[in-house]
Amino acid sequence: PYNGPSGDEIMAKRKEYLSPSVFHFYKTPLHVVEGKMQYLYDDKGRRYVDAFGGIATVGCGHCHPDVVAAIVEQTKKLQHSTVLYLNSVITDFAETLASKLPGDLKVVFFTNSGTEANELAMMIARLYTGCHDIISLRNGYHGNGAGTMAATAQSIWKFNIVQSGVHHAMNPDPYRGVFGSDGEKYARDVQDIINFGTSGNVAGFISEAIQGVGGIVELAPGYLSHAYNIVKNAGGLCIADEVQAGFARTGSHFWGFENQGVVPDIVTMAKSIGNGIPLGAVVTTPEIAQVLTRRNYFNTFGGNPVCTAAGLAVMRVIEKEKLQQNAFEVGNYLKERLNGLKDKYELIGDVRGRGMLLGVELVTDRKLKTPAKAEIVHVMDQLKELGVLVGKGGYYGNVFRILPPLCFTKEDADFLADAMDYSLSRM
Ligand code: PMP
Repeated sequence: PYNGPSGDEIMAKRKEYLSPSVFHFYKTPLHVVEGKMQYLYDDKGRRYVDAFGGIATVGCGHCHPDVVAAIVEQTKKLQHSTVLYLNSVITDFAETLASKLPGDLKVVFFTNSGTEANELAMMIARLYTGCHDIISLRNGYHGNGAGTMAATAQSIWKFNIVQSGVHHAMNPDPYRGVFGSDGEKYARDVQDIINFGTSGNVAGFISEAIQGVGGIVELAPGYLSHAYNIVKNAGGLCIADEVQAGFARTGSHFWGFENQGVVPDIVTMAKSIGNGIPLGAVVTTPEIAQVLTRRNYFNTFGGNPVCTAAGLAVMRVIEKEKLQQNAFEVGNYLKERLNGLKDKYELIGDVRGRGMLLGVELVTDRKLKTPAKAEIVHVMDQLKELGVLVGKGGYYGNVFRILPPLCFTKEDADFLADAMDYSLSRM
C-alpha cells in the first residue's frame, strides 16, 4: 500500500514550487503511484485502464519488464554521453531503427525530445537547401522551441515566438475542412504559399500524418503525395513528424506516413520510442546528413547508452509481442465500438483515426459542428470515476484522444466503450 504524501500535499507543493502553467485534466487531480502495462494505480490502490499513456509508452506498456531490465542493466554497466567513445548499444539501436525505414533513410541523429528532433530536422532542411522558408499545417503541433513553436499552428500553444520564415498551409481536415476528403484540393494551398509567399524555393515541409495534439485529425487521403510533389518541385525537403503516429501505433503500418504512401526525406520521432524514457531521433539519408559535417554538431545526452538500451528493448518487444498486429486488431475493434456509440448519441460528431490513435469529437449540434466543450470535461471526469483515462485535445478542446499502450486488449476496449456509453447515457 502507498504511504507517501497525499494528493493534497502534492498539489500544495506544486502550487508553491512548480511553474504556474502546469495543468491537470480533472476536477480532483489524479494521483497515480504505479503503472503496469496498460493499467495505472492511484494512491488508494484503485486501477485505471490507461487509454492515453500511449503518448509516452509504446505498446510495451508501463514499466514493461524487458524495457526496465534493459535500463537497469545498462545503468549498472555504463551511462555516459553519446558519441565520445564507442558503444555498441547506440549503433545497434540506430541499425534497428534504420531497418524499419524505407528508401535510403538510414542515418540517425539522436535527441532528448520531439521538440529537439524537429528543431534539428528543420535546421537540416534549411542547411541542405540554402532556403529559409518552411511550410507546416494549421492545427499541427511540432514542439515548444523557437522554430518548432513557429511550425506549431494553434494559438493555444504559441507564445510570443519568432514566426519568421514559417508558413501555415490549409489543414486537410476531412471533418471540418472546406474540401472534405479531397487531399489534392487542399494541397493546392501549398503551391499558393510557394507562389505568393516565397521566392519560389523553400527549405521544406513538415507535418504529422495524423495530428495528435490537434485532435487526431487524419490528413485527407492523397494529401501528402500531392503536397510532397509540390514541395520537391520547389527544391524543399519533406519532413514526417512521427512523434505520435510512429512505432506501429496506426496498426496497418509501422509509420504514420506509410498510410499515405509517401517516402519523406527526413523522419522525426520521440515519445514512444523509449517507452517513457527521454529520447528522440531524426533519420535522414546519407547525402542530406552530410550538411552537419560543416560544423561541429553535438548533443550531450541525445541517444545516451541508457536511453538507447531502452529504445532497443522497445523495438524487440514490438516484434516479439506482435504489437503492430494488436494495434490493428484491437484498434479496429475499438473504433467499431466507438462508431456504435456515434450511432447512439447525437453528441458524438465524429469518430476517426487508425489503429490505436483514435479520436472522438463531441459537438452539441451535428450540422453546425459546435464544439461541446463543457460536455467533454464532464464525460472525461465521469470516465475517470469509472476507472478509464483518456486524453483531450483539438483546437476547441472537444476531442477525446485515445492512445492506449499497444498491449491494450479487446476487454480493455470493451471496458472503455462501456464506460463511455454509460457516461454519455447519463449526460
Ligand atoms: N511532435 C508531435 C507530433 C508531438 O505530439 C509532440 C509532443 N506533443 C512534439 C512533436 C514535441 O515533443 P516533446 O514534447 O517531446 O518535445
